[in-house]
Amino acid sequence: MKVACVGAGPASLYLAILLKRNDPQNEVTIFEQNRSGVADGWGVVFWDDLVRELHENDPETAAAIVDQSYRWVDQLLDIAGQPKVRVRSTGFSIRRHSLLNILVARAVELGVKVQFEREIVDSRELHDVDLIVAADGAGSRLRRLHADRYKTTISIGRNKYVWLGATKVFDSFNFGFAKTKAGWIWFHAYGCDGETSTFIVECSPETWSGLGFDTLGMQDSLSLLEKIFTQQLSGGRLISRSSEASSLPWLNFRTVRNQTWYAHNVVLVGDAAHTTHFSIGSGTRLAMQDAMALASHLRNSADVAIGLEAYQRDRRHALSLPQREAYFSARWFENVDRYIGFEAAHFFALMQSRRSPWLARMPPLVYHRLSKATSAPRKLLRQVRRSKTLLQYYRGEETHVGGREYP
Ligand SMILES: Cc1cc2nc3c(=O)[nH]c(=O)nc-3n(C[C@H](O)[C@H](O)[C@H](O)COP(=O)(O)OP(=O)(O)OC[C@H]3O[C@@H](n4cnc5c(N)ncnc54)[C@H](O)[C@@H]3O)c2cc1C
Repeated sequence: MKVACVGAGPASLYLAILLKRNDPQNEVTIFEQNRSGVADGWGVVFWDDLVRELHENDPETAAAIVDQSYRWVDQLLDIAGQPKVRVRSTGFSIRRHSLLNILVARAVELGVKVQFEREIVDSRELHDVDLIVAADGAGSRLRRLHADRYKTTISIGRNKYVWLGATKVFDSFNFGFAKTKAGWIWFHAYGCDGETSTFIVECSPETWSGLGFDTLGMQDSLSLLEKIFTQQLSGGRLISRSSEASSLPWLNFRTVRNQTWYAHNVVLVGDAAHTTHFSIGSGTRLAMQDAMALASHLRNSADVAIGLEAYQRDRRHALSLPQREAYFSARWFENVDRYIGFEAAHFFALMQSRRSPWLARMPPLVYHRLSKATSAPRKLLRQVRRSKTLLQYYRGEETHVGGREYP
């Protein structure tokens, strides 16, 4: 099979690796508009459920990713001026730069051709291939050219966010909140190697313009954020990847959905097919799972069209829950004022429930009391379920046990 992949993000690179592992005769070429070694964004989090799946699909890649990942412990809520709240949790994070380097090296080792600095503006440029993979991210050009075929919808989040790095290494997953004269502003931060952390700042558009971020230049914006979060950053600095730009790259999150995931021989994977708000930390995992599903359906189907249909059915179904949870999680952060008046431990408990559709529909205090009242029986039920699964596992009836979900 001859495959052309547009974009060298996690979805495309992992798919190329798996296609070559399935059959070394597969010819796979990746076209990436950026230079080699350039990666947008900072670090991403993931959990051991992804590690297990990576290991099942390609142990070499899994080992390299774990080796270059940072292991953070616990989640921490840090509201300026209040005692910190900590809950037990553990996960991984990795710089996107490191992740992409690992994937490129493995793909090349298996015989994939990767052409950097090659932008594809139309799928018609890619002749003589059996399959074109549109892995060109949330703003996918290939998808936009035929949005009617895919029945694409894009909804724009209300809040402003910016994806930065920090020189302080946060050894826990931190949610830090600060009150300013223009309203609340907060960050999601976690170490992503031994030297830096991911630091995503988010706030309402009113707070954003009230603090002047709509007019401030790059350095002034970074200095203001460092001042606002000075306590949580312990004097550390903030870093923007777009250091040559005149202002910080603030964005509104775009949720992408498609009713159809392929048209003729062009298939959407990763962010081109779907996005999930960053507050559930799942986009990279879902992109790599798309790759696993597509490679597997192509291997097991009589022809490409049957494989694409099976892939679409499988992944559209798999995405419905994370996209729903991401929707409620994003809305939770758009309504922080509804929850911020609670004392820190309650506030954190409500934040942990942010994916729930019920929380948005009932008074937070009622939700909190109800969920506390039902948490003991739920815990018991979970334990019973878990011990049952463990029993099945040891009897060989289950291939894997549980998976840590975020948070
Ligand atoms: C603030 C933020 C935080 C996040 N944190 C997490 C997290 O903690 N955990 C997690 O799992 N996910 C996280 N994500 C999501 C994650 O970054 C994406 O879901 C993931 O990168 C999607 O991978 P992809 O391969 O589909 O696309 P991308 O990684 O976007 O790659 C697309 C590639 O295509 C290239 N390209 C685009 N157009 C063209 C063209 N015309 N020709 C050639 N090349 C092209 C681009 O240069 C890019 O390299 C976060 C996202 C954001 C915005």
